[in-house]
Amino acid sequence: MVPRKFSLLLSVFLMAVPSFAQQQTPAKPKPRVIVLGVNGMELDIIRPLLLKGQMPNLSKVIENGAYGKLRTVSAPNCPRVYTTLFTSTNPEEHGVTGFLVGGITANTNMMKEEPVWSMLSKGGVTVGMANVPATFPVMPVNGYMISGMLTRGKNCEDGVLCAPKLSEVMGGDAVYPKSLQPELLKNVGDFYIDCERMPAASDLKGHETELINSWLDKVQVIRDQQTKLFDYLLTTHPTEFTFLAQSCEDRTGHWLYPISPFNVGYNPSINSVRQDAFPNQYIAFDKVLGSILKHMDDNTYLIIFSDHGIKPLREFEEKDPHAHMDHEKTTPVIAKHDFADGDDVPGSFFAMGPGIKHDLRLMGLGASVYDVAPTILHIYGIEQPKQMRGRVLTEIFEKTDSKVAAKQ
Ligand SMILES: [Zn+2]
Repeated sequence: MVPRKFSLLLSVFLMAVPSFAQQQTPAKPKPRVIVLGVNGMELDIIRPLLLKGQMPNLSKVIENGAYGKLRTVSAPNCPRVYTTLFTSTNPEEHGVTGFLVGGITANTNMMKEEPVWSMLSKGGVTVGMANVPATFPVMPVNGYMISGMLTRGKNCEDGVLCAPKLSEVMGGDAVYPKSLQPELLKNVGDFYIDCERMPAASDLKGHETELINSWLDKVQVIRDQQTKLFDYLLTTHPTEFTFLAQSCEDRTGHWLYPISPFNVGYNPSINSVRQDAFPNQYIAFDKVLGSILKHMDDNTYLIIFSDHGIKPLREFEEKDPHAHMDHEKTTPVIAKHDFADGDDVPGSFFAMGPGIKHDLRLMGLGASVYDVAPTILHIYGIEQPKQMRGRVLTEIFEKTDSKVAAKQ
């Protein structure tokens, strides 16, 4: 019921957009905001890479912006946290409490609170989104939307932690507007919408090295496709608000986190094969970031965030015999993030742009996933709706005047 309400309101506002746009003075363009979501970025892994100079693009963002930990929700996982971030309401309020809700794979029809992209669309801001988790089936926006993690399709019938190709999506639309789909197939190719499913324990046995290497090769193929997609969209379909996301890092961390023999679940035939696998994901992510930075100008804000971190397992907390397996209960995991206390696995937040302080480190857990949407609305001068639980991260802006970031 509620999502239909969003769409109806949205269509009214979409019709109103041209006259709204005419009232704008051409001298003051709306700010551009590029949000880059990373599923499960772990600062413990990132920091040594930054020190070694292996993430030059993220280093540049840190130097020229604000960064810190991002408080997440309890037992964090992707759909639960992303939807909290979209709506700035808690999981019980927005309804997307996990991968499965009432036995059904989480989807946008379950969302009971209005997401930020709907508010921006109504405010006349053009919106472009690609591969953002928990956005399937796609919803109408003042621009385009391509779904991400939890998209259902061939070889990924349940939509959980697997990867249908664009042409193999089933059970809903992965692209809005529909006319964009043939264009993407022609110009970008038949890309994978999400990261590859992890191999099952039964497949791994006796073929560990071979399977780990081929899985990582596939992950790189998917990342290359995503990079091409993001670059194509930013070049040929620029929007004022653009939200892109990556999800292969997290999945690599779950079963290839660089743990030591004393860690819970250590299996030398798997965990000694590619100790570099997980850190390498961030080095690869940094290259994707480099291709996105090329699309920045003086009027563009960049926000990079992660919904949670990821940490090696801790035996004393595990009572469930399946706790060391992934969501499919087939692959042994050695690191996870759905700890009851989400503060053990905080996400991360990086922001850079006009009026944002330089080289500012946010200490503690003062910034939370609830604060991202209000801060984005603030940049566009849109008032924060009452139901939103977060706050504008005023401390990242040079002036505390509430209108500082708004260009109009
Ligand atoms: Zn995960």
